[in-house]
Amino acid sequence: MPTLVLTIKKTVFYKKMIASENQNDGLAETNRKIVLAADLGGTNLRMAAVDYDGKILYRTKLKTPKTNDSAAIVEAIVESAIECRRESKVRGEISTIAAAVPGTVDRKNGVIVKAPNLPALDGLQISSVLKRKLNLSCLLENDANAAAIGENWLGASKNFQDSIFVTLGTGVGGGIIINGKILRGVDGTAGEIGHICVEPFGAECGCGSRGCVEQYSSATAVVRLAGELSERFPKSDSSVDSTVTSSEIYSAAKAGDKLGLEVFRRQGFYLGIALAGLINLLNPEIIVVGGGAAAAWELFMPHAVEQIHKRAYSEPAKRAKIVRARLGDDAGILGAARLAFN
Ligand code: ZN
Repeated sequence: MPTLVLTIKKTVFYKKMIASENQNDGLAETNRKIVLAADLGGTNLRMAAVDYDGKILYRTKLKTPKTNDSAAIVEAIVESAIECRRESKVRGEISTIAAAVPGTVDRKNGVIVKAPNLPALDGLQISSVLKRKLNLSCLLENDANAAAIGENWLGASKNFQDSIFVTLGTGVGGGIIINGKILRGVDGTAGEIGHICVEPFGAECGCGSRGCVEQYSSATAVVRLAGELSERFPKSDSSVDSTVTSSEIYSAAKAGDKLGLEVFRRQGFYLGIALAGLINLLNPEIIVVGGGAAAAWELFMPHAVEQIHKRAYSEPAKRAKIVRARLGDDAGILGAARLAFN
């Protein structure tokens, strides 16, 4: 009999414990602050419900509609937002959506000023449209700034006050964080690292200038450089034609192809010139480099570092850690979420 009593007591106690755990869980879940964060790219539209700790509770990803009609793109954003809200609703309160967009934004008025890869959105006051359709307050941020903030919150530059983020993708983007705050400039255009001139008489750039680092260190540039150099390396393993990709050039270079190695030497050389200037100007603690064209890191980064040490003041050059980004495609979403919580 004593054994039986003991067993019953244990069961009751166990049940109480479960109930109280569930109750705590319930409280934590429903009181949790959640935001919707979008990363609107030229190729993909990513959306996520993100909690205060940066945990992604639910996410969607779809192809950005290829259209001149801004309404179709807005509709895709709204549908993704509704899905994320529905799937995460029971877990907390959502009052804000923050969107990272590939272009210049007027944050105060919620306007996409200019988005070179999504010209349909140029001049659109997207904040008021989303507010009306979703009944959420809306924040905008440039995508590279958002990625810089994301990496600074939860990624490679976490706990650093002065950091620079560079993304080597289709173009070269950048975000600068000084004293823990993103540097925007008076019109919100600060941090355009991709358009630092590294070759005064160099290749024409989409921005209207020439010789911008974007023309030498982006994935697009890697392909162009391979084409330009192909005549000098007739025995190259990289069969350079209009279909060659930066990752094919990387594979050939890794196997020792001289053309490929020269392409990545140049990618690093020019990136290093731009970073040396930034180091002299800003004395950062850390420079985070991400994006698809950072994949060839071991081939181009030694050349970038060499230029940094040749060109920048020695103390800040030694001080600046240069590391790979950690958050990958989530950096923009997490940065947008961070802004919404702040
Ligand atoms: Zn440019």
